[in-house]
Amino acid sequence: MDAIKKEGKSLMKGFLGNVKLSRRSFIKASAVTGAAVAAGAGLKPELKALAASDVGAKSGMGQWLPATCQGCTSWCSKQVYVIDGRAVKVRGNPHSKVNNGAGCPRSHLGIQQVYDPDRIKTPMKRTNPKKGRSEDPKFVPISWDEALSTIADKIIDLRKNNETHKYMLMRGRYSYMRDVLYDRMTKIIGSPNNISHSAICAEAEKFGPYYTEGLWDYRQYDVASTRYMLIWGADPLAANRQVSYYSQIWGSVIDRAEIVVIEPRLSATGAKADIWMPVKPGQDAALAAALAHVILTEGLWYKEFVGDFIDGENRFVLNQQVYEEDFEEKYTYGLVKWWNLELKDKTPEWAAERCGISADQIRQVAIDYAKAAPHAISWVGGGPVMQVRGGYASMICHALNGLTGGVDNVGGTLKSNKEYTSKFPKPDDFMDEIAKKGKKHEKIDHRGRLEFPALNKGKSGGGVVTNNAADGILNEDPNEIKVAVGYMNNFTFSCGQPERWERALSKIPFVVHITTNASEFTWFSDIVLPNTHHMFEKWGYVKSHGNGYRHVTIMQPIIEPVWDYKTDETEIPWLIAEKLAERGFDNLLRHFKEYKDPETGKEPTNEKEFALFALKFATQNLWDPAKHRGGDKFSGWEEFTKVGVWNSDPYPFRKRWGKMKTKTGMFEFYSETLKEALEKHAEKHNTSVDNVMEATFYEARGERAFVPHYEEPYIDGNPNEYPFIFVDYKSKLNREGRSANCSWYYEFKDLDPGDEAWDDVAKINPVDGIKLGIKSGDTIRLTSPTGKIECTAKLWEGVRPGTVAKCYGQGHWVYGRLAAKEFGKTPRGGNNNDLIPAVYERLSGSTVRHAGTRVKIEKA
Ligand code: SF4
Repeated sequence: MDAIKKEGKSLMKGFLGNVKLSRRSFIKASAVTGAAVAAGAGLKPELKALAASDVGAKSGMGQWLPATCQGCTSWCSKQVYVIDGRAVKVRGNPHSKVNNGAGCPRSHLGIQQVYDPDRIKTPMKRTNPKKGRSEDPKFVPISWDEALSTIADKIIDLRKNNETHKYMLMRGRYSYMRDVLYDRMTKIIGSPNNISHSAICAEAEKFGPYYTEGLWDYRQYDVASTRYMLIWGADPLAANRQVSYYSQIWGSVIDRAEIVVIEPRLSATGAKADIWMPVKPGQDAALAAALAHVILTEGLWYKEFVGDFIDGENRFVLNQQVYEEDFEEKYTYGLVKWWNLELKDKTPEWAAERCGISADQIRQVAIDYAKAAPHAISWVGGGPVMQVRGGYASMICHALNGLTGGVDNVGGTLKSNKEYTSKFPKPDDFMDEIAKKGKKHEKIDHRGRLEFPALNKGKSGGGVVTNNAADGILNEDPNEIKVAVGYMNNFTFSCGQPERWERALSKIPFVVHITTNASEFTWFSDIVLPNTHHMFEKWGYVKSHGNGYRHVTIMQPIIEPVWDYKTDETEIPWLIAEKLAERGFDNLLRHFKEYKDPETGKEPTNEKEFALFALKFATQNLWDPAKHRGGDKFSGWEEFTKVGVWNSDPYPFRKRWGKMKTKTGMFEFYSETLKEALEKHAEKHNTSVDNVMEATFYEARGERAFVPHYEEPYIDGNPNEYPFIFVDYKSKLNREGRSANCSWYYEFKDLDPGDEAWDDVAKINPVDGIKLGIKSGDTIRLTSPTGKIECTAKLWEGVRPGTVAKCYGQGHWVYGRLAAKEFGKTPRGGNNNDLIPAVYERLSGSTVRHAGTRVKIEKA
């Protein structure tokens, strides 16, 4: 550990002083040519941002400028202190009603990211035609003109050959300017293959709320007024949405509410909870079923929302069928069916055998939780749901909110408030015959096939199966991919079994990567384009909700650029459109010219104007007083950009009771909405719902498929060979996967309970460690059926025996000189995804992250 720490510090010294280049040409090309290109482009050749001596020299003072952070999916509105064009400090934007001026630890790492000397500084092209992990790409610098011309030529070739469906766009972290590049450009070129990262994030989290209350979205939680919270596999103080706001308010929440955290390892939130339930991985649904059973048998459901037995006598008795006509529901649907099909025998004792939590504790938690109704929350995170059989866990954990009437209620679980941004102009008139024909092809990720229903909002194939696109590419099924563009994604690191992506990208003849850093995806690319950093250098906006509000917060270029970057979602597509027009295909450029400045009516004439006009166009209803529809009101664009954030009206509680977007309009315990979606999917494939269940690895047959229910976990690996279940989690310092080249990430890593600074530790319960003869500090190897990694052992009581927990984020073999131990060769720490197989929660299309695999632990 000390050796790594020393190495890390000397590397940092190298960055700030005499920059020591790695032996690989990747970074060499970027660093050397960056200086040349910058000088040629009129930028000062030195890294001004890193020269500490002239801070404030020009003006003697700086100013706080509005910004937006996308370090995680909280999407907080921020302010950045800028002196002489240089960002020096970050804080929450006090104008946001969502995050109330609050910040979080990882927001500060944004400054290390933007001034990272290992950023890509100029366009580059690959000169080594061979692709593979051991093949140095031998990138050389090229001009923007050459890079964009090459890309345009490849697209024109596809169009000439009627092969536009062989174009693919892969999206990673995005703003709501995304549709320019992701949707409009892909459609006008003529491809169906715009593949988002969404299914490696948390789609299964939306599955339960949609098939109970018609909400395909993340929820907000009224923590300020709640009295009880069950938090399932989420860590709001570290990694779930609104970390800044929760970090600010949690002290008073703890004073007022009882908090139960359900997760196999002790999280930051768990460490501050009243009760930590270290559930066995994959068994959350057993616990949820027993909680529901107790709430019903004890007569503690919230009658104002759910209704009651007509004669007031509680007939929910162990193992007793109930007649539907005896119960009169108010705002819910199918409670008695749910009881009869699933809950009547799910006692705490039954659950205790499966989930490893005592029956007494289950009973007590159920009673206390229900007594707090309706100001009670069942908070469903990724832990119980991003599993092979997690779709129904998502439903049953979320269904508890129906029993307590916490849904859409004060102190409960809410949807997002209304906002009034506009969609970009439609592309249809600019799609020619080639484009229309190309677009009709099947998508590369197999969504909508029998085994991949991906039932986003009830539609068969409406969702994405991100990780399966690698197999589509490898097997040329439904077709080969010839030209691919990825932006701010790193599927070669962030997807389960990433080695498949290495092979898939090696197979594609022409890959473009738009990125800030040279990631594992970049390594397999042919052209690399340097991207702006969202927080300091880009025009854009995002929407987010929390604290009973929604905000729309804008991104602006607020610092002097250090190198010659262009923006992924607006400037680069415009520049490609210009090159396509030069080659006789001007549809895309003509479409982009429709994004006129709402203030002047002027059409854009270059990429900078396009980026600005597109943002003004999308947000006009928020800043133009003549178009005001609700929420904050501004005098115009200038005031909006100064404040940086628009806030919605406050949350209208209980307005959705009886008007939910389900088939019945009610909160569905028996999901007519899911029944219809599954039946339509089965019909499309000329088969039965039972066969759909079988094809998607679910056990339920018949009517059980339509109610929230328990399923045995489906975990890869034979327990005799692989005795431990692997537990993946996220850090307070993970800016998604992009913190790894920031020294502060390592220096402060021990902020995460059980973790160590400057190390990547796998946490093992001491009981297991003693049995294995492993002690803290030992170098160990974790092996799953699909891969292995090396890291350091840490014996710690904060993990359930029989499991091993490790934080996601390290294990990069590129990304920067600190991220990798030896750039292009040796990773620093281990990438959890090397252990996790490419398996799916298929009803939502989600990639499995939790309870996905067993591992064995050995001394390395
Ligand atoms: S890292 Fe996440 S919680 Fe922190 S400021 Fe950025 S968006 Fe907000």
